[in-house]
Amino acid sequence: MPMTDQPDGDGPPPLLPVDEALARILKGLAPTQIERCMLPDTRGRTLATDIAARLSLPPAAVSAMDGYAVRAADCTDIGATLTRVGESAAGRPWTGTVGAAEAVRIFTGAVIPDGADTILLQEDTTATGEIDGATVTVNEPPRQGQFVRPAGLDVTAGDMILTAGTVMSARLIALAISAGHTEVSVWRRPHVGVLSTGDELVRPGDTPGPGQIISSNATYLSAFVAACGAVPVDLGIARDKPGEMLACVRAAPAPLDLPAPLDLIVTTGGASVGVHDHVVDDLSASGTELGFWKIAMRPGKPLIHGRIDDIPLLGLPGNPVSSAVCANIFLRPAIARLSGGDHQPQMVAARLASDLKTNDRRQDYLRATLTYDPQGQAVVTPARKQDSSMISIYAGANALIVRPPFDVARQTGDLVMVMPLDPLL
Ligand code: AMP
Ligand code: MG
Repeated sequence: MPMTDQPDGDGPPPLLPVDEALARILKGLAPTQIERCMLPDTRGRTLATDIAARLSLPPAAVSAMDGYAVRAADCTDIGATLTRVGESAAGRPWTGTVGAAEAVRIFTGAVIPDGADTILLQEDTTATGEIDGATVTVNEPPRQGQFVRPAGLDVTAGDMILTAGTVMSARLIALAISAGHTEVSVWRRPHVGVLSTGDELVRPGDTPGPGQIISSNATYLSAFVAACGAVPVDLGIARDKPGEMLACVRAAPAPLDLPAPLDLIVTTGGASVGVHDHVVDDLSASGTELGFWKIAMRPGKPLIHGRIDDIPLLGLPGNPVSSAVCANIFLRPAIARLSGGDHQPQMVAARLASDLKTNDRRQDYLRATLTYDPQGQAVVTPARKQDSSMISIYAGANALIVRPPFDVARQTGDLVMVMPLDPLL
């Protein structure tokens, strides 16, 4: 029976599969705007256009070794002698032409002079001196063309070196810089508003009174948002009163020159249907739109999806582990989409270090520890406690075991799929 978000009479209401929920969230998101960015500042930014090389690398044929630029035909015999006629060093090419029985002293990265077709290794010669006019004796005949790096070996001017949608890394920045670029077009960093909800919450640094706890979700999510390349905007704590959530979002300071103050709003808590949960009700007000799903996942069943004044909203559960896991599953790809990219989670197959019971109808994200045995085989140990309120367990985990709905019981040694957690998140 296909699972939908529509109740179907008797029995527990059907739950929306994780993939479908994600697809619906992504469908409602469009990339921000394009802006120019100096290449050294683009790490983590997403390219908005394809990039073609402006220069070839290397720009001319160069030597890969220290030795002599020669004509291979002059060096076929052990004991053949050549006369050194010049020197080509990196950045200081020799401008003559190598003739019969001539050699030009050459170093790694130096341009190979006209006439030469081969690099005779320094170690394969004996020279009477380090001076022009010296005699160079061939001790080991070279292979024709050896140690010559032809022009354009690495990159040819005009080649497409990077495609739109690529997230820039230090190595891609180095590639674009080498190919003659100084700045590129990227998508503006999305502005993501982070709002906590709950009467029990106090801000970090404040002392909790009776029945109160310190709000940790916003701190986690702000770090998460920043690590995803977006700009977190603190929207504070909305109290459990009708209209509070809406008021906090609408009070967000508007950055200059932007069509909207925020590109995405993320809330935590108040997502259920208890009498103190108002996020859903607030989204029934004018200028808003509501989608409320029960997702087939654990932790994190209730997920709110909506819009306030045309800004997309993702309402995550309040339990710290649920909101964090939902951030990994939904928020990260959402930010990637707003940034003009496409996030694909990296999964690893690992052997279980303990047994797992049959799974129910919810996709399970078990907090776990991923290690590698001496043979390099990934081994994963699920945490013994999986309560979604326990931030200490999540903090001590480095991976999530992902179990599909109705997964059969698994034994120690079975392979399961694991999503490593970002070590800095
Ligand atoms: P709720 O969905 O609002 O019922 O919250 C579920 C649980 O998560 C409750 O135990 C809340 O106290 C807790 N919770 C909600 N928001 C936060 C937050 N910002 N930081 C830490 N815990 C929270
Ligand atoms: Mg609450």
